[in-house]
Amino acid sequence: MTSDLDSITKLDEKYVLKTYNRQPVCFKEGNGAVLTDTAGKQYIDCVAGIAVNNVGHCHPLVAEAIAEQAHKLIHTSNLYYIENQALLAEKLAGVTALERTFFCNSGAEAIEAGMKLARRVTKRTDFIAAEDAFHGRTMGSLAATHKEQYQKPFRPLMAGVSTVLYNDADAISSAITPNTAAVILEPIQGEAGIRIPDDAYLRAVRDICDDNGTLLMLDEVQTGFGRTGKWFAKDHYQIKPDIMAMAKGIGAGFPMGAIAVQKDLRFEAGDHGTTFGGSPLACAAALASIEAIRADGLIKKSETTGRYLMEKLSQLGDIGGHSIVEVRGKGLMIGVECATSCGDIVDKAREAGVIVNVTDGNVVRFVPPLVITKEQVDTVVDVLADI
Ligand code: PLP
Repeated sequence: MTSDLDSITKLDEKYVLKTYNRQPVCFKEGNGAVLTDTAGKQYIDCVAGIAVNNVGHCHPLVAEAIAEQAHKLIHTSNLYYIENQALLAEKLAGVTALERTFFCNSGAEAIEAGMKLARRVTKRTDFIAAEDAFHGRTMGSLAATHKEQYQKPFRPLMAGVSTVLYNDADAISSAITPNTAAVILEPIQGEAGIRIPDDAYLRAVRDICDDNGTLLMLDEVQTGFGRTGKWFAKDHYQIKPDIMAMAKGIGAGFPMGAIAVQKDLRFEAGDHGTTFGGSPLACAAALASIEAIRADGLIKKSETTGRYLMEKLSQLGDIGGHSIVEVRGKGLMIGVECATSCGDIVDKAREAGVIVNVTDGNVVRFVPPLVITKEQVDTVVDVLADI
């Protein structure tokens, strides 16, 4: 049994295959927007497991649903009907306005499923994705994740993916061919530094796809489940994608991914599948997560607290000596772009009791639990003003 950071670090470095540069902290408990580390120090969490813990850490509805289901039935198989899966698919049809769902276990898996479905139904092979997009690190999703650092060691990638400038519908018009199965886009780019497209962009892309018999696949892995002040970011733009990928916030921290699709898009049995996807336990967590979003009014809270946090951040001239160029966001998906590379803010903020994350080198990302209070927002901004 080990509980101090030093011994955990030693074990991790000896036995865990390194894929992340970890920060020197280990959290033991979470409640709402507050995390507690192994030494008992508390932090206000503005990362939420990277846009995952939308309903807050250990929401009682979710914790109870997981515990109760774990005592009844954890896993069977997709060989059999799964009551919670059917109930969750019905709920998702309500919140996504798409008719059917396939369940998997992560965001990258959702993208894989969407790419396979697009090839299957269109009988075309190619995809268009955006520059600076992040769609995951499995071989298919990696081909659409436009970052040299992620792609280079793993070439050759899956063929057929071309990339175009984000927020440029004409670039999609020029790149689309009779062999384009789908255009894959984040409605707001997350890892690229919270990049919000022009209001008309996604509608223009929808029209281009319709004119060319190409599917539109939106990646709402990071933007979903109230994150941007709507159930999904697509709802800001009044468009209906053919395929929508979800993960992160869907299970309030319980691993789950999914695609929701328009009703005429179908796999045949055996085309795709996964052992764990849509298990009774994962679906219990997701059902409770949706219930908690509704019960706590988190869509509205995301919008109002997000606006408040953006206003307060806009009053700061700099963070830790890094001049602020722009504060942008929707709901509680906010980026503060600094003039200079600003990774040091993460350490300084953590030491002062606030967890933030920097993406794209110079953008401080705020994706806190949607339950974060105005008082906690005030503390976060005071801490950032002081570092
Ligand atoms: N798509 C987007 C927009 C993401 O932000 C991420 C993860 O950050 C993924 C896909 C991949 O999700 P996962 O890490 O669950 O595979």
